[in-house]
Amino acid sequence: MGMKDQLNPQGELSERVRTQFYIDGRWCDARSAERLELVSPITENVILTVPGGCAEDMSAAVDAARRAFDTGPWPRMAPSERAQVLRRIGQAIAVRQELFARVWTAQVGATIGFTTMFSSLIPGYYDYYASLADHYAFEDVRKTAQGHARVVREPVGACALILPWNAPLILLSQKLAAGLFAGCTFVVKPSPETPLDALILAECAEEAGLPPGVLNIVPAGREAGDALIRDPRIDKVSFTGSTDAGRHIGAVCASRIARCSLELGGKSAAIICEDADLQTALGTIVPFAMPFSGQICFSQTRVLVPQSRHDEILDAYVEAVGHIRLGDPWDTATTMGPLSMGRQRDRVLSYIEKGRGEGARLVKGGGTGGFNQGYFVEPTIFDRVTPDMVIAQEEIFGPVVSILTYSNEEEAVAIANNSQFGLSGTVFSKDVGRAESIARRVRTGNISINGLQIDPSVPFGGFKQSGIGREGGVEGLEVFLEPKAIYFPA
Ligand code: NAD
Repeated sequence: MGMKDQLNPQGELSERVRTQFYIDGRWCDARSAERLELVSPITENVILTVPGGCAEDMSAAVDAARRAFDTGPWPRMAPSERAQVLRRIGQAIAVRQELFARVWTAQVGATIGFTTMFSSLIPGYYDYYASLADHYAFEDVRKTAQGHARVVREPVGACALILPWNAPLILLSQKLAAGLFAGCTFVVKPSPETPLDALILAECAEEAGLPPGVLNIVPAGREAGDALIRDPRIDKVSFTGSTDAGRHIGAVCASRIARCSLELGGKSAAIICEDADLQTALGTIVPFAMPFSGQICFSQTRVLVPQSRHDEILDAYVEAVGHIRLGDPWDTATTMGPLSMGRQRDRVLSYIEKGRGEGARLVKGGGTGGFNQGYFVEPTIFDRVTPDMVIAQEEIFGPVVSILTYSNEEEAVAIANNSQFGLSGTVFSKDVGRAESIARRVRTGNISINGLQIDPSVPFGGFKQSGIGREGGVEGLEVFLEPKAIYFPA
């Protein structure tokens, strides 16, 4: 196929990003011989080997974050001063937008078009939280029976941010921009498959003048991550990843009453109403059912169609998916790249087998697309899926969509709600009022009408096992704040 890895780590990344951690405002060497291999999803070659953190590295990072919180300037600065640093971080990211897109594509195989578009949105998170300096009330006064109380919202403390591999810089920035504005300090543990983005971000933070110790970055696997979440000097853990790991992290935090927010998996439903405009619906669902090979938490992986329009919608959907071009993510004409890892590909193929075994009808895809290298899986559509099938219940995290039919609105809502998850969703109808009434009945954290939107000013997060807490908006700031009440006499 002639696909080549196009990132040149030696030429495009600084030596410190390739070889060191960022702790206490300094670039430092790893304390163990632990190494992380970055494997290309298109050639299956190791493109770079970087140090992996051990428990001692984590401990040094925690120490720096703790000191920066307890005695450093950051939590004590005025929000408007912190906002200026945030804006400068956003600018430094914008300058490196192309590099961030390239690094993202190289590590996980998302198409360069996708990573370029989404990288351009990242400075928006820093700008949005900086803009809150103009109107967010960190304090308010309340009259009490004997006088008054001042309610002060203080930063929650030294925080651990634990990140998955799929969209590393966006997911980090959603947390970090809010928490920095709040006045917190951080130890960031990027996923072992995608260590580079956060380390380049450290260069941006340095350039922006973030004080030492506020942001510490140690890429590592689970063991060192576990030491981090158990460390009593960490006040709060904010995690994005799988529901299984989230359950474990939530339990560890509960055992020591550490604050914890969790952004977990999803199995979101797109409800196409009888009167929906099919072009609008498919224009949204096709890219968002399987963006980035379906490895996005808010993928619309269950498509609910009315019985009366089933054949028409299925035909149109299969035809639209037929235009997806699977191939080299570095080629700008490609619309879907490989899965990110060998283990992801195997997992997705096993779900496809499961779907066949439980009697769903495979109408498109299902294979590896004839590639002789790379972790490719074709865009795959199952029809005649029933709500209790495994492929309708579990998060596959691959380019696999299930079509389910319903006979009336109540049934559509019931199917959408027949899930352990509740992260995203969409409703398509020419009658926006009707779509809103359906949207209000779906138990999910985010739902869009006749499209799919996500905005830094609006909370994002899950109902049920999709998570606890929110990112984005004032809600995403408040998970990094602790209210303190100071009572004054009359
Ligand atoms: P994962 O849960 O395997 O790993 C996520 C991170 O947690 C990694 O950094 C990993 O090293 C770390 N980790 C795992 N166990 C740990 C432990 N015991 N202690 C400390 N750290 C630990 O998830 P993944 O495969 O990297 O990501 C895919 C998942 O993320 C999917 O389920 C997806 O839906 C979810 N996700 C959710 C959102 C959201 O906003 N809700 C966004 C993106 C991805």
